[in-house]
Amino acid sequence: MSEEVLNFINGQWVATKGKGEKLVRKDPGNGDEICHMRQSDNADVDAAVAAAKAAFADWKKVPRPERAKLILNSVEIVRRRKEEIAQLMTREMGKPIAEARGDVQEAIDMAYYIAAEGRRGWGWQIPSELPNKRMYTMRQPLGVCALITPWNFPIAIPSWKSYPALVMGNTCVFKPAEDTTLLGKRWTEILHESGFPKGVFNMVVGHGAPIGDRLVTHPDVAMVSFTGSTTTGLAIAAKTAPLNKRLSLEMGGKNPVVIMDDADLELALHAVLWCSFGTSGQRCTACSRVIVHEKVHDKFVKMLADHAGRLKVGHGSDPASFFGAIVNEKQLAKIDGYVQIGLKEGARLECGGKVLKDGAYAKGNYYAATVFSNVRPDMRIAQEEIFGPVLSVIKVKDYEEAIRVANHVAYGLSTSFFSRDVNLCHRASEELESGLCYINAGTTGAEVSTPFGGWKNTGNGHREGGPTVIDAFSEIKTVIIDYSGKVQKAQIDNN
Ligand code: ADP
Repeated sequence: MSEEVLNFINGQWVATKGKGEKLVRKDPGNGDEICHMRQSDNADVDAAVAAAKAAFADWKKVPRPERAKLILNSVEIVRRRKEEIAQLMTREMGKPIAEARGDVQEAIDMAYYIAAEGRRGWGWQIPSELPNKRMYTMRQPLGVCALITPWNFPIAIPSWKSYPALVMGNTCVFKPAEDTTLLGKRWTEILHESGFPKGVFNMVVGHGAPIGDRLVTHPDVAMVSFTGSTTTGLAIAAKTAPLNKRLSLEMGGKNPVVIMDDADLELALHAVLWCSFGTSGQRCTACSRVIVHEKVHDKFVKMLADHAGRLKVGHGSDPASFFGAIVNEKQLAKIDGYVQIGLKEGARLECGGKVLKDGAYAKGNYYAATVFSNVRPDMRIAQEEIFGPVLSVIKVKDYEEAIRVANHVAYGLSTSFFSRDVNLCHRASEELESGLCYINAGTTGAEVSTPFGGWKNTGNGHREGGPTVIDAFSEIKTVIIDYSGKVQKAQIDNN
């Protein structure tokens, strides 16, 4: 019997109030049952929001450094449980064990980063144009934050959202992805054990669609922080806009690596392999387009196909696996569907292009590392997010065309540029349209201290991660103190 996951509301593990269809999660790498749960319903959302709202009254008054101490408590627990959680991650969503450890490490790094923010001021003191008048800003919490997370970074992304929300004095209702609910439970256990008061952090589980509307439109939810697909994110935006709720979105990507004719091709090759096929290409920052200068194009395609075709695909728990299983069957079918579209569009298959079914692959969702060449910038495989180990190579004649092609997509999360020409590198960093831009490095690997998010259909202007995450999870208040004893009139008295 696999482990059961309940909701966590007001400090208690509780069953859904509704009938709740039974959901079972299986290891995408071998079909073993991992956990089961019941689909939550709107009454569970209402209970979680009510608990978070009630807890907010006291939690917002706790001094910020005291809140940060609870985050530091949680780091001890995450460190102690790192290996066990990483092992679970390889089984629940399929990423290789080294990457799973990195995912948990990101939560540890984020905890230290955000706990330190607990002792910073974040305000400005602003000189007044009038005498005996002081002006300064302070940051205040928003209230109840709904944290909706995807399965691909099942501990790291909840940590990016929970820690800043909590340190700023907000309370939370967390909705982990249905494919990584047991890791959501582990995350909630950790915060509970760290000493956060009851009601401050709550979790509701199950598919997003049945409860999503209630959660994002609930009158007592002040802010929604969402990471996931563009379709779902924009649908949430349409629902929250008329209610004027704070919304932080991080959605899809179609991230390019540009390789110029003077690039270090060996360096570019290994960067491309890692950022395109790591996590089976299931990262929002994964590279899915390589834009190569015509002078080095044929050579690079050959290098890429030779290496990609030999990458070891296997269960995440095997340290030799370069990448693991695809998260679920629906996603596997979507990837294969895009490969068929690419073939119909006239792209040339250099390697891969198939579901892996033989031997050890038989019980899991595995897809071969796939490289297409002869891809035109307007093809669907070059425009739409595939979220799998499928890479499209596009040939260009010069720098200008490379930048034009790189920017010619609806997304703008991460871009990368390889060249030994320092002037061109600086130009590219200005001209590429994305929230993150890497020079002589692949498109993945953001650090906790850097603002993270994207342009165009990737985001809506907020940046989680870095100092900007504090902006996303707080309101600014400007305080104006007039100690002149007179009615002073700005813009009038001294002009
Ligand atoms: P992915 O394709 O990465 O699974 P989704 O956008 O479907 O991306 O899912 C990301 C998160 O959003 C998950 O936690 C999912 O349950 C949740 N979700 C899905 N549909 C909705 C919805 N209508 N409202 C709110 N959350 C949703």
